[in-house]
Amino acid sequence: MSKPNLLISECLCGVCCRYDGDHNKIDCLEELQSLYNLIPVCPEVLGGLLTPRPPAERIGDRVQTRNDIDVTEQFKGGAELALAIAIEKAKSPSCGYGEIYDGTFTRTLVNGVGVTSELLLQHNIQIYTEKNVQDLIKYNSDD
Ligand code: SF4
Repeated sequence: MSKPNLLISECLCGVCCRYDGDHNKIDCLEELQSLYNLIPVCPEVLGGLLTPRPPAERIGDRVQTRNDIDVTEQFKGGAELALAIAIEKAKSPSCGYGEIYDGTFTRTLVNGVGVTSELLLQHNIQIYTEKNVQDLIKYNSDD
């Protein structure tokens, strides 16, 4: 039986696409790989942003870098390209789900979702983060 596809934030796979050129590799990557056909995507890079890049946060419907550059269009473009079932990086202004930084660049968290997560939710696509990825593993292992 073929494995189901799973869109996954590329930085969770160990790819250095984070704004600061680092990654967020998760410990259970091999386990996920055994259960799913992983499709790594980084919406910010898909949207045309370079790595490394200035950190950005959501401020209402806009996304702005710490040095006041509006990157909303790049975030929206990347989100459009990432429409599929998703496991997303928590807190990111693209992939965040549940909590994101509040737009003040002070590491303050508020309830909210990133630009890509918002678009995926609008299309009824289920989202997991690295915080509940074990549920996703259990879900497919129980089949
Ligand atoms: Fe990771 Fe998503 Fe940020 Fe790209 S946009 S670095 S995949 S959290």
